[in-house]
Amino acid sequence: MTTITILGATGTIGVNTLDVIGRQADSYRIHALTARRNINKLFDQCVAWQPRFAVVEADVDAAALSARLRAAGVATEVLAGAAALAEVASAKEVDCVMAAIVGAAGLLPNLAAVEAGKRVLLANKEALVMSGPLFTDAARRHGATVLPIDSEHNAIFQCLPQPANEGLPAAGVKRLLLTGSGGPFRTLPLDELETVTPEQACRHPNWVMGRKISVDSATMMNKGLEIIEACWLFDVPHRFIEVVVHPQSVIHSMVEYLDGSVLAQLGNPDMRTPIAHALAWPRRIESGVPSLDFFRLGALTFDPPDEQRFPCLRLAREAIAAGGNATAVLNAANEEAVAAFLDQAIPFTAIARLIERALERIAIRAVNCLDEVLEADREARLLVRSAISETS
Ligand code: NAD
Ligand code: MG
Repeated sequence: MTTITILGATGTIGVNTLDVIGRQADSYRIHALTARRNINKLFDQCVAWQPRFAVVEADVDAAALSARLRAAGVATEVLAGAAALAEVASAKEVDCVMAAIVGAAGLLPNLAAVEAGKRVLLANKEALVMSGPLFTDAARRHGATVLPIDSEHNAIFQCLPQPANEGLPAAGVKRLLLTGSGGPFRTLPLDELETVTPEQACRHPNWVMGRKISVDSATMMNKGLEIIEACWLFDVPHRFIEVVVHPQSVIHSMVEYLDGSVLAQLGNPDMRTPIAHALAWPRRIESGVPSLDFFRLGALTFDPPDEQRFPCLRLAREAIAAGGNATAVLNAANEEAVAAFLDQAIPFTAIARLIERALERIAIRAVNCLDEVLEADREARLLVRSAISETS
């Protein structure tokens, strides 16, 4: 029996996680489900799963949810705020934490889980991009097992030799090939990018995802964040990682070895596969994902990434090459710019411009502690917000 906390239970990854767990319900006990403010969905999930705790954002009316649950005969205790998130991520009885809050808000609860030595299923790439070595060092020191949920990193993990403790080059790995679909605007005429709407940006050709990561896929900042994520997860420099545009999203990433072998992980584009893999690793369980139908696939195609169309790829490489606080600045500037685009306050093409400006204006400094990461995050958000209010 595994006891699990799902951070961000009401999101796309959270819902897929509950779907997979539901297929082996006898093997899992839910300690806590958390959400920001989607109270109705969280209520339904609590009725279905009877977790010990539900956690909502600090300014949400926890008492009202609590009363509704009691009236429905559900004993779940409702907590609110950041300290409660950290508490349910690190509680003694918890074995495993699904880290599926979107954005920087996930950093503190993820760290709490890592510092408590949990098995951490990491979907929330932004937290890792921000905190890099602080996060991986904490995992090492506290004996936490961090397993990637991001489909590309999960694919790479599946294609690597196990264990690869002595480092990837010593294990004969030559490079990591990170595939990406190119998103909804891969072939749109460049001059039309300026006027695309949030609805168009969120209509991903292959994946159903939350709105923030959907916009990241449209700018390809998602792939940029994933380059950085791969650097930290697999302890390699960014030049070791090549981006391959693969519009069908069937190959989820590849590992090339010195002898010319290339191992790929394939599957339908459905997050339940990496979720099931990481939940059960090193075993395998049912995920509900249908078999890949090779005869209906047709062709698999590959292209180099177009850096003129997708400047965010270059910005992400520049940030990881600069090191220190630069990846936290990149991430925070991106989060603010994407939120402004989703609010229709800025055009799509301003996202990359705002991130570039933040990287130019904020001095690169080494980061040695969490406060320095959080300071870089604050500084970048202020800079982007004031740049947006100047122009509007
Ligand atoms: P989503 O927007 O669908 O869900 C986000 C979840 O986080 C929700 O439960 C929401 O209530 C919670 N949340 C949001 N802001 C919060 C805050 N400030 N405090 C506490 N909780 C908060 O997002 P998603 O698509 O499920 O993605 C979640 C994470 O997984 C992201 O980091 C994303 O990059 C990563 N990821 C997602 C996919 C995918 O296919 N959806 C693939 C790879 C990685
Ligand atoms: Mg991904």
